[in-house]
Amino acid sequence: MALINIASVIAWGYGLFLNGKGRQADAILVICTEVWVHSVCAAIFLGLEVGFQHYLWAISALAILNTRLNYLYASFYSLSFILTFALLYLLCADVSYQYKYSEYVEAVHFINIMVAGIPFIISMMVIRFISVTQEDAMAKLASLDSLTGLYNRRMATEISLKILQQASRSGEPVSMALGDIDYFKKINDSFGHAEGDHVLCEVALFFRSRLREADIISRWGGEEFLIVLPGVDGEAAYSKINKICQFFEKEVRLESDTSYVAQMSFGVVECTPGVTFGECLKRADEALYLSKEQGRNKVTLSKN
Ligand code: GH3
Ligand code: MG
Ligand code: MG
Repeated sequence: MALINIASVIAWGYGLFLNGKGRQADAILVICTEVWVHSVCAAIFLGLEVGFQHYLWAISALAILNTRLNYLYASFYSLSFILTFALLYLLCADVSYQYKYSEYVEAVHFINIMVAGIPFIISMMVIRFISVTQEDAMAKLASLDSLTGLYNRRMATEISLKILQQASRSGEPVSMALGDIDYFKKINDSFGHAEGDHVLCEVALFFRSRLREADIISRWGGEEFLIVLPGVDGEAAYSKINKICQFFEKEVRLESDTSYVAQMSFGVVECTPGVTFGECLKRADEALYLSKEQGRNKVTLSKN
């Protein structure tokens, strides 16, 4: 057993080294093999009373995490440790501990059960961590526009509906501004699609830096952006959007031609209680249309 213990320390050291190098699959293989050899030898030479066989359950859980093996192989691999455990009870039941320190056998058995439980807990933690981070990542992917990182249309609608509901309960005003970049097609045609994408990101950055945390900024589609301003009435929203527009030409720049001036038109509406999100949006769109008709680079407030 002394030789096995020395080999075991070397194997664990190597396993941890591999893990540190990012080779988790190899590390799991080395550690599982070491624990398997160790458990079997301990059962044969020391008997089952010492309790080293319990580590076979721990490595059966660890083996499943070896992503290099497909689900079927990983299951068989894992099951082989449980099979070993069952066989040891059949084959080594008569082996009894006959060495020094026999008074500590019970305590060692107890400790072995407890320590063998740790990889189980770690495995479950890893699974929980992965599923929670993946859920978060999926939720993020489903709610954000991949180009600008702003809320997408689906998420913006969901949040806006909540804001409108809250506002109708509290009596607080809410306004909405629908913005559309002027002659955006010309930017794409003259400077290329990548430059068009760059301008969309610049516009997103511009809104983020010029608006409040509480304002909901979204890419409504193509080169259209929807902004929801909770606690702001129509007149205030109109002057706020007009005010930030002064900075638009200076702050939204093309990458290839910094002398090109991008501009944007807006339709602003106050969402009065009882008016649906769809109706507010329609009125904002009509106001935006008026801004476009009246020469663009303009903000129009929808008249109630
Ligand atoms: P207007 O002033 O009337 O709004 O004119 P416009 O050229 O901005 O509007 P139009 O609807 O004619 O063109 C919009 C263009 O936006 C056409 C489409 O190819 C482009 N576009 C939509 N989505 C994207 C995108 O994700 N990236 C880029 N680069 N272009 C996009
Ligand atoms: Mg458009
Ligand atoms: Mg446009």
